[in-house]
Amino acid sequence: MKFDVCIIGAGPSGLSAALEFLSQGAKVLLFEKSSRPGRKACGGGLTQDAFEFLFTRWHNKKKFSLKTCGPLETCRQLAVYSGNSAIYRGANNLTPSDGDGMNRFFGRVHTQREIFGKECLSVHTSAPFMHVSNRVVWQNAVLMQIKEDGAEIIDERVARVSDKFIVTENGRSIETDFVVAADGARSLVRRTLKLPSAVGIVCRQQIVESSVANDFDFAIPSVWFHYDMFGAGYGWIFPFQDELRIGCGVPAGKGAPSLLKSSFERWLSHLRLPIKAGQMQTGSIGSRYFGHRFGRVFLAGDAAGMASSVTGEGIFQALVSGREVAKEICSPSYRSEIIPGLAIQHERTFSTVSHPIIGRSLYNNARSILKIPGVSQLAMRKFS
Ligand SMILES: Cc1cc2nc3c(=O)[nH]c(=O)nc-3n(C[C@H](O)[C@H](O)[C@H](O)COP(=O)(O)OP(=O)(O)OC[C@H]3O[C@@H](n4cnc5c(N)ncnc54)[C@H](O)[C@@H]3O)c2cc1C
Repeated sequence: MKFDVCIIGAGPSGLSAALEFLSQGAKVLLFEKSSRPGRKACGGGLTQDAFEFLFTRWHNKKKFSLKTCGPLETCRQLAVYSGNSAIYRGANNLTPSDGDGMNRFFGRVHTQREIFGKECLSVHTSAPFMHVSNRVVWQNAVLMQIKEDGAEIIDERVARVSDKFIVTENGRSIETDFVVAADGARSLVRRTLKLPSAVGIVCRQQIVESSVANDFDFAIPSVWFHYDMFGAGYGWIFPFQDELRIGCGVPAGKGAPSLLKSSFERWLSHLRLPIKAGQMQTGSIGSRYFGHRFGRVFLAGDAAGMASSVTGEGIFQALVSGREVAKEICSPSYRSEIIPGLAIQHERTFSTVSHPIIGRSLYNNARSILKIPGVSQLAMRKFS
């Protein structure tokens, strides 16, 4: 049997591409190697843009709604630690319970001061900062929708790809007009195309029960910039139900894996959190873009290098690029301006923060820089 398009990977980019193809009447086959897609290492943080993409754009989907995709927690506050200082970001429209959270946070600054010895700067914005989501739940809901809309799904790993055929690890060979590679940062298809690796950031993440963090109240998500530890990367602590996702990422390159391990352990001991408690995960983020159209083969999401090399955020970029790639295939005259636009924007920001002098100075002096009128809003927008 022949398909209009074969998509490899049921992550955000593959799912988004599949929904767009199906809405245009294409005959779609999706390959997924994992029995539970969405279980990969990820903080699960959805920015407001990603949240709106999922729940506004797809609001008419039967299987997919805020109810079917819970639990999903909205965070309207973010604590940002930079160099030796703490910067707090909170929404203007705080509800009483958010207020409690804010008070808890400011109460905690005392404890943080013991670690970093500096005071906290607070920055307020009006929009929620992010939503913490369970990817297994919402990806599964979209997968169900795609099946209902008529896509075929094969739960097998793709072993080989050409522009006309896909061959699975069990030797199944399928003919197709187009291939969409949505197979993540270490994409097999990207290797087949002999492109440089998409991996721009390497990460470690530890998932621990909230009770492990006895000394602190980590109810508010926080991100930690510290040039001496993470270079142009950063650490994050995202609270989710009864667990904390504590992770960090550093720019990929020579020596990155050992720097990552030692920085992570150093940071945990700064935070007085136990090392090697809970579940340890490693992962890569695809943030190096070298094009997305290669004849009949198209790359999307991390496989195309769409994630931000600065924030590591990739879910929104995966959703958007999956949709854009599907549009390009369905309408031959359509050329996405969004895909190269996002890539250029990330590259510019990254070249600034990865500069050894500029980056160090920006990250370590963020507190003073953010006091300049207008700069704080601009910088915080770059975050989200
Ligand atoms: C530790 C960590 C934390 C992160 N935290 C965040 C965050 O909080 N917020 C955010 O926005 N982004 C985050 N990211 C980035 C985000 O996870 C990715 O950018 C996003 O998942 C990319 O989506 P994707 O669909 O392109 O690829 P993926 O989500 O990686 O999906 C690829 C899919 O393809 C499948 N696949 C791969 N190879 C094959 C094959 N040969 N055959 C069949 N199937 C295959 C995989 O099983 C997988 O399901 C994080 C990344 C890491 C590593």
